[in-house]
Amino acid sequence: MVDGSSQQQRIAQFIEEMPKVELHVHLEGAVLPETLLSLAKRHDVDLPAKDLEGIRDFYTFVDFDHFVRVYMKINDCLVTPEDVGMITEELGNEAARQNIRYLEVTISPGTLVYIHGMSFDEILDHINAGAERARKKHGVRMQWVLDVIRDMPPHIREAGAKFAIEAMDRGVVALGLGGTEAKYPPEEFTDLFGMAREAGLPSVPHAGETAGPESIWNALKLLDAVRIGHGVRAIEDPELVSYLAENRIPLEISPTSNIQIGVFDSWEDHPLRRLYDAGIPLSVNSDDPPMFNTTLTQEYQVLVDRFEFTLAELEDITTGALEVSFLPEAEKKTLIQEFQVEFGELRERLGIDEK
Ligand SMILES: [Zn+2]
Repeated sequence: MVDGSSQQQRIAQFIEEMPKVELHVHLEGAVLPETLLSLAKRHDVDLPAKDLEGIRDFYTFVDFDHFVRVYMKINDCLVTPEDVGMITEELGNEAARQNIRYLEVTISPGTLVYIHGMSFDEILDHINAGAERARKKHGVRMQWVLDVIRDMPPHIREAGAKFAIEAMDRGVVALGLGGTEAKYPPEEFTDLFGMAREAGLPSVPHAGETAGPESIWNALKLLDAVRIGHGVRAIEDPELVSYLAENRIPLEISPTSNIQIGVFDSWEDHPLRRLYDAGIPLSVNSDDPPMFNTTLTQEYQVLVDRFEFTLAELEDITTGALEVSFLPEAEKKTLIQEFQVEFGELRERLGIDEK
């Protein structure tokens, strides 16, 4: 109903229905509590709770160590490659529910290789099969950023980077770097990212989340980052902010994740608006949605509620994310045009005249 609904309700409705793009969401961090429960039951894995309420509590962010424990517990429950295919399909279903049409999903197969002895090959096969099922059902398209986890043993990290290069024709579009940033700086990964550069695989490391601007500078200089996961602590260095804006280096920002992890103490301290106004291309993302009790739709709403973004700015962020995505140019153009038409139709249907 348009009549009688407040402007606020119309904006919320617009955000819910608008076509979206997500460039920074972790496959393993997107496993819903109910899915974790059924996986644990199937494989007889011990969880710290036996019901949904308990798992939601377990998921609640306490500190980074607990976060890693939850993450590892999820990986414990992904016992077979079929499980990984199933959670990929579920991520696609959830994306369709929020009208997210294209995702660059971060996958960390090294962890599963390490703890369950699966092969990179079979993991990716099942991920692609799950994605294909979601695409057939909903038209959702997904591609993969293969993350090297900093905390893994060197041979697993190396095998992951090599596999990412081999799998460039199977949906892997970039090499990422995740895990404990402060403990393992970019300097340790120059060889792996050098290898990726030679093969033409773009570099998209996490940086500037739990470490400061130095980590971002080194991700740029030593790892040739073309896009940065988080990067929000660039705000501590005005020279870096100018550099990112001038060189059009996009940041993948996950506001709720940043607040929950404690990168910033409050919404007032979060630099999202300042980074956007400085002219840095940025996308908005959910990172590990159930672990931060959020969704991409909620993150868009956060931009309106906490940072006073207009719908025109949300549209701009969405098409901007497509522009800096790793989709082929022709596909990008088509999607951007589709989105713009749909934004207009949606505004008209909901009676929104804000520009
Ligand atoms: Zn992340």
